[in-house]
Amino acid sequence: MSSVDVALVFGTRPEIVKLAGVARLLGPQARIVWTGQHWDAGLTTCFFEQYGLPRPHHLLTGVGGEARGQQIGRMIAALSDHFTKRPPAVAVVQGDTNTAAAGALGAHCAGIPVVHVEAGLRSFDDDMPEETNRRLIAPVADLHCAPTPTAAAHLLREGIDAGRVLVTGNTVVEATLETLPVEADAHRVLARYEVVRDAYVLATVHRPENTDDPARLAQLLDQLAAAGLPVLMPLHPRTRAAVDRYGLRRSVTRLRQIPPLDHATFLALARHCRLLVSDSGGVQEECTVLKRPLIVVRNSTERPEAVRAGFARLAQPGRQLACALREMLDDSTLTGRLARVPSPYGDGSASAEIVAAVRARYLTPDRTPGAQLPAPGYAPDRAGAVTAHRP
Ligand code: UDP
Repeated sequence: MSSVDVALVFGTRPEIVKLAGVARLLGPQARIVWTGQHWDAGLTTCFFEQYGLPRPHHLLTGVGGEARGQQIGRMIAALSDHFTKRPPAVAVVQGDTNTAAAGALGAHCAGIPVVHVEAGLRSFDDDMPEETNRRLIAPVADLHCAPTPTAAAHLLREGIDAGRVLVTGNTVVEATLETLPVEADAHRVLARYEVVRDAYVLATVHRPENTDDPARLAQLLDQLAAAGLPVLMPLHPRTRAAVDRYGLRRSVTRLRQIPPLDHATFLALARHCRLLVSDSGGVQEECTVLKRPLIVVRNSTERPEAVRAGFARLAQPGRQLACALREMLDDSTLTGRLARVPSPYGDGSASAEIVAAVRARYLTPDRTPGAQLPAPGYAPDRAGAVTAHRP
């Protein structure tokens, strides 16, 4: 292993999707460190295969089912130990998972600089563990790759130095464009799942705010079942466990429940559905590339760009969800209008921009402190908005 390799800390499905492009561009300089946060093969193995990633360096086993404090604690200890013994030039973490927080803190404790991909998202909802994870990463990150100007503005407002903030777009754009099957293959997927283009709903639910509240989960499942169209629902292991725990089998059998899907299959179904309903973070971004409408079944979102652009609508189970389902399913021109709206998450060049910045700052032979730092990456304009100024 080269002494100037880049450690990419992975532990969950979205990290595989969103860092795959970065790993591939780095080639042999990428060291994939797998924390074991997701342990279900349906959420991991097929993603590594689909994205053609090398076998990761497995750090831990058995952390997957642990309580959050245990999980983060063990991951920090193992990562800081690993980085101390085999220091990479830099550690890259993605998003807001427990793995990302532990990766940033573990690297920081070992004196390794940290790059945060998908930096600056804020829901301002402290009930979400992901919000705490994001806020823990910000003060220890050396370079913040913000997907949008809104995310960059949050970081500047928190006092992060503008020279350490880069607006790159979100790597999920290129992952989606690259993985979405061509039309003929997508239609074969629809046939396999016995659904007709524009005449079904695709739903995913796995966030604790929905799965850990039996009344809310029951209401959500019942409302989906009453949507008036077939509802395909890949069941996340956490949701399946909640359904069993709360005795909701009857509610869920009124939906077409299927195991978690590989990414290409999921994207094919998402591209051609009438409506997406999800509490996922990544799906809020993917819908803007696929040009499909989405109901975000959550109390808050850290991705207001998708809402502002007209792709997504936030709704809690109950009156809000009933109203959103009715209005969005009845709007026969909605998908036609969205087809013309650009994604607020960029044009598919984020991975390349991130790798270029990582190489320039951490992998060049002359790594004199400060020598590689470009002029401020970001500056608010006179109206207070933030404008991109890429070094
Ligand atoms: N996804 C998938 N198969 C499924 C459900 C989701 O490939 O059955 C993908 C989805 O397209 C997105 C990612 O999983 O890229 C999102 O992962 P998740 O919702 O677990 O995490 P979040 O984005 O909420 O952090």
